[in-house]
Parts: sequence; structure tokens; C-alpha cells
Amino acid sequence: MRPYVVAIIGSGPSGIYAAEALCQQTDVPVAVAVLDRLPVPFGLVRYGVAPDHPSIRSIRNILERTLSRPEVRFYGDVSVGRDLTVEELRGTVDAVIYAYGAASDRRLGIPGEELDGSIAAAELVAWYCGHPDVHPDLDGAAADEPDQPVPAIDAAAATRLVGSTRSAVVVGVGNVALDVVRILIRPTEDLARTDMAEEVLKALDGRAVTDVHVLGRRGPAHTSFTTKELRELGDLDGVDIVIDPFDHDLDPAAVGKVALRNLGVLSDWAERGSRGADRRIHFHFWTRPTTLVGDGRVHSVITERTMIDSTGTLVADGPGPELPADLVVRSVGYRGTALPGVPYDEGKARVPHAEGRVIRDGSFATGEYVTGWIKRGPTGVIGTNKSDAVETVTSLLTDIADGELTARHNPDELGRLLAGRGIDPLGMGDWRRIDAAEIARGQSQGRDRATLAHRSDLFAAAEHEDR
Ligand code: NAP
Repeated sequence: MRPYVVAIIGSGPSGIYAAEALCQQTDVPVAVAVLDRLPVPFGLVRYGVAPDHPSIRSIRNILERTLSRPEVRFYGDVSVGRDLTVEELRGTVDAVIYAYGAASDRRLGIPGEELDGSIAAAELVAWYCGHPDVHPDLDGAAADEPDQPVPAIDAAAATRLVGSTRSAVVVGVGNVALDVVRILIRPTEDLARTDMAEEVLKALDGRAVTDVHVLGRRGPAHTSFTTKELRELGDLDGVDIVIDPFDHDLDPAAVGKVALRNLGVLSDWAERGSRGADRRIHFHFWTRPTTLVGDGRVHSVITERTMIDSTGTLVADGPGPELPADLVVRSVGYRGTALPGVPYDEGKARVPHAEGRVIRDGSFATGEYVTGWIKRGPTGVIGTNKSDAVETVTSLLTDIADGELTARHNPDELGRLLAGRGIDPLGMGDWRRIDAAEIARGQSQGRDRATLAHRSDLFAAAEHEDR
């Protein structure tokens, strides 16, 4: 029986879990092409999970096993939108699954947000994870990616900003905020054991951060933290946690087990008080920023207190503290972007779908599916993508069983189209050479691996000619 050729756009966890779900079933043969605009796979597992969370980063090994299966082929450094259109891709395969995530960030929409020193968490994360978009090649050659959000900072700017920050403000109380806080404040000795790129480690070694202020616009019972990640902050060497007693109104209306556990952790910290450390994390609940103040570079954040009124709406409740800030990181969620040729709901910033079947002009689009953050929004932990991908692949397999999808294409058609354009994608052999180079480099420095941040270094390690 001829295999069904399925292309997956995006090699992050959502895309690879979809490939896994396709490979694990035995009803129909499949040939899966996983495309990524970056030369290396793994998406947010490589470029989003904090380097000081090695066990979560090691999910990469499981994802790598799927990409190495005989029925799966990785097409690295192939950008849908730049190298071929969605329509052209669809013309070479039987079905396509959009798994391109949520690459952009949400904004606060307050005065001063454009000041130097005001950045999105997504940018700082990309920097400390060694993302090539934020680590441009030294010759200035950057990949021409017309459809990608352009990062507002590059490695030089991040190094300058982090190196000249004593007090930082992080807006938002989700897990990304926790990652950012830890990386900004944790001792260099801890970070030196991670797989961070050398230049990032060097920049962080030059830090003089003493205070990080975390702003939650609602109460301590309304955080989006997972408790394990929250608790980790309390174990950082040489760091005190300061919770303003005014804010410490442990809300009896707290709902849900996670919120209660988080309240317990915050409450313990509030009771523990200062241990006389020279660095501090301050939590300010019921507080939101109203203006970033600065002259070119941000130097403080004006805040206001908030409360929930009788209608359940979050409203202002008088002025809050003005906080010193050389760096303001907004960690208020990611946002999906439109990919030309793919239906997109601007309001929800997602691809419209039902159970993973893409809705185009009000009806189901034959052979188009969606999974991951661009399907459900930027929520959930890595594992959430697995059940999400299973739902999408189940819809695809049902459509095959119902005769909605037929196997018309040859697995080689995509490769031929790309070759005809002079595009030579990186594959898993290239990844293995990059992997070996990163391990060798790390081990020469007494750690497990060292991330190669520059595109040119990735290509050199892969022994693959760049375009
Ligand atoms: P998130 O969990 O949605 O948190 C966003 C935070 O921003 C919320 O506290 C939200 O408050 C706040 N916020 C939104 N708009 C705001 C505004 N205008 N002003 C002030 N605050 C605002 O998003 P995230 O932290 O970016 O994380 C994304 C996903 O990745 C989450 O599912 C997260 O669990 C996951 N993740 C997991 C890990 C891990 O497991 N280690 C690590 C990183 C990320 P409200 O609740 O009031 O809206």
C-alpha cells in the first residue's frame, strides 16, 4: 500500500509528537516530512526550556528517536514562506500539519514600553538559549525571514542590558517569568554547569543584578506557576524572597490544587522572612505597571495597585510603588502569528480548527491539520503537546478511514521541489554532527554540552554548506 505523505511544519515538541503519533499507528503506512526554518530540530525544547532545567531539556532525546525513524525525514533550514509557499508544499504531500508554535510576544500597551531596556521575555529566553535569530553571525549575515517577527534585541544588546542591570522588573506570574527571574539572579557557578552558549555564560558572569521585582496583576492565588518551578526559587543560594506583607492576603477563595500549593509556598516564604542575602526576589501582587520611566534607557516602573471589583473586573486601586528598573521584562504570554496561506484567527492568534482539522472559509480544509500552541494557544507544559497531537492525528487518520484523504503523492516530491530550487536541507546526520560538536565542546569545559548559538557555527559543525 502506498504511504500517505504528511508534512509537518515545525520540529518542536508539538510537531514531533504528531510525527510520533503517525508512526505509532499501524492502520496506514506513512511517510512524514518534518520541516523547520532553523537548521536544528526541537523548537522550544532547545530554544525555550531554560538551560538550568536539564531534565526537561533531555526530552530532546525522546524527540530525536522519533525524528530518526525510517519513515520520518527532517528538513532543517527550510522556511515555509521563504523557500516555498504553503500551497507549493501542499502540492507535494497528501496532508500537512501546522505545528509552528507561537513565535511572537504580547505587549503591555503602556507608555515607555519602547524604551531601551524594555524587552519581551521571549527575546531574553531566545538569547540565553542560544537562538541563532538573537545571535547573528559576526559578519552580520542574518537569515532572510520575511514572515518572522524580528527580535528587538540581539546578543550584543542583551549582553549590554544584562551586564548593566542592578534592579530588574519582570511583569507576569507564569512559568516563563520564573525562568527569567532564575536566570537573572542565580549564581554564575550554577549556570556554568548548564549547556548555555559560552558567550551567554560570559555575559551572565558579568551581571551585577541584586534585585528582581516580580509583578502579578492579580493576587497570590491567581498565579500560573507550577508549584515545583515556584519552589525552586526558594532554594537559590544567596537569594532572599521578599513578599510585601500588604500583598500577602492569602485569598480564601483560592481555587484549584495548584493555586493552593502555590499559596502554601508563598506563605512559607513570607513567614521565613529575610536571611540577610545580598540578592533578593520581590513579589508584588495586586500590582501592575502603568508607565515605564526613563531617558532613552528605562530606569523605573510606575505601578498601581489593583483589585477585583464586585463585577469580577480587575480595576485600579490606588498608586503602587515606583520600582527601580534597569531592565523590564514583560512575561505576559506568547502570541501566535499568521503564516501566509494558512487560515488565521487574528482575535485568538491561532489557526481556526475543530479537533485539529483546519477550518478554511467556514469549512474543513481537506488535508490541513494543526497542533500545538498555534492550535490551542500558548498554554500547557511540553507533555500537553502529546495529547494535543494525538487528537489531531486521530482526526487525520479518521479522514483517511472515511476516504476524505487519499495517498496521491510520492515521498520524494518535496525533496525534488527543494533540490530544484538549490535548497539542500539539513537532516538528522547533520544534527548528529552538531550534537557531537556541542558535546565535545562542553566536555572540554567540564560540562555535558555547550550550545552553538551562531548559524555559521551550526553549519560548520554539520559540515554542511550554508546558502
Ligand atoms: P502564562 O502562564 O500564560 O502567564 C502569563 C502571565 O502574564 C500571567 O500571570 C498573566 O496574568 C500575566 N499577564 C498577562 N497579560 C498581562 C498584562 N497586560 N499585565 C500584567 N500581567 C499580565 O504564560 P507564560 O509564563 O508565558 O508560559 C507559557 C506556557 O509555557 C505556560 O503554559 C507555562 O506553564 C509553560 N511553561 C512551562 C515551563 C515549565 O514547566 N518549566 C517553563 C516555561 C513555560 P493573568 O493570569 O492575570 O492574565
